[in-house]
Amino acid sequence: MNIAIVGAGPIGSYAAYQLSKQGFNVHLFDQKPKKELGKPIQCTGLLTSEIKKFIPLNKNFLINTFSHVEVFSPTGKKIKINKTEYLVDRIKFDQHLLNLAIDQGTTFYPKHKLISITSNYQLIFKHKKKEKVISPDIIIGADGPSSLITKHLNPLLLKRDYYVGFQATIKGNFNPTTYQTLFNNNLAPELFAWLVPESSTMARIGLATRKRPAHYFTKLLAHLSISPKNIIEKQAGTIPIYTPNLITKQDNIYLLGDAAGHVKATTLGGIIPGFKAAINLTHKLTNRQPPFHISKNLNLHLKIRTILNKFSNQDYHKLINLISKPKIKKLLSTHSRESPKKLLQKIFLKEPRFLRFLKKLF
Ligand SMILES: Cc1cc2nc3c(=O)[nH]c(=O)nc-3n(C[C@H](O)[C@H](O)[C@H](O)COP(=O)(O)OP(=O)(O)OC[C@H]3O[C@@H](n4cnc5c(N)ncnc54)[C@H](O)[C@@H]3O)c2cc1C
Repeated sequence: MNIAIVGAGPIGSYAAYQLSKQGFNVHLFDQKPKKELGKPIQCTGLLTSEIKKFIPLNKNFLINTFSHVEVFSPTGKKIKINKTEYLVDRIKFDQHLLNLAIDQGTTFYPKHKLISITSNYQLIFKHKKKEKVISPDIIIGADGPSSLITKHLNPLLLKRDYYVGFQATIKGNFNPTTYQTLFNNNLAPELFAWLVPESSTMARIGLATRKRPAHYFTKLLAHLSISPKNIIEKQAGTIPIYTPNLITKQDNIYLLGDAAGHVKATTLGGIIPGFKAAINLTHKLTNRQPPFHISKNLNLHLKIRTILNKFSNQDYHKLINLISKPKIKKLLSTHSRESPKKLLQKIFLKEPRFLRFLKKLF
């Protein structure tokens, strides 16, 4: 069976790797040359420890390992939680995943830009100023947040709901064992800001918001007393919000990763949800039971986001006060945020005052 995957980002390459391993004849296309994959960087590269369930960590792409996260309330109250998490170099990470796929037998076609899909499911690519038409048995759209294949499956969807992530690499003095998240509607409305050290002298500082990202980023730097002169490089990119009614499968076409909106609405992390979706699809195409409950899980993240988006700064302050209780910190340090259901159940049992926030859902 011939499978064409469009998009050699982390999710397309990971799907290619998994499907090639199962013996499928996988053809992976990207508009970019191989050297340019992962560029420009549009990702912080922070991954929970669940990443190790999907690929072994490799010093080629691993930049830093954190032992703690610090959470700041709008008034500056800080809590520190034990948490092992990883920071990856997205260019090296993307290249590593592509090489895994190629080693498993995937054929990679760089500089192939998908320009159209016909009604009988032919893909038309532009390559070296010529058009190339292919007729695969299965099409996988992993072509990112502006996916052409998503538009093909969802012709009535006029505009997707996006956040804009805005960050910069900054030089300074940082604690490399700890990354920080700042909850404050005046600095990062409808999400949070982050400071993620690469080392003791370099960090990725940013935020994601639906409106005026550059404005809020300037405010964030001032709040952190960081001079714009310390900026080494700025990066920005769109992050789609999970949309439950998006069509992500039709006949022999499937969407994965950002193309499908496989992003946790709580943190906007898309790599592990995309990997889970790639594994599920591989199971489906090999007639095995998919192991992950993707839509249930992403829907729960979306509900939590709906609640958080109604938070005032005072609500954040109350939330962070409750989180500062040792029994809650312990739960947060031992449970992954990837699948929040179990974590929430335990939190509600240990501290029923968290239930008060649920009324914001309605
Ligand atoms: C500022 C920012 C910070 C982020 N931080 C994190 C984080 O810390 N952790 C995390 O898990 N997630 C993070 N994310 C989200 C994460 O980057 C995405 O979820 C992830 O990149 C999705 O991977 P993908 O393979 O689906 O899409 P992409 O990485 O966008 O890859 C899509 C690929 O498709 C190719 N393509 C597109 N159109 C075509 C076409 N027409 N023809 C051929 N090829 C095409 C592109 O060239 C690209 O290589 C962040 C996002 C942003 C913007």
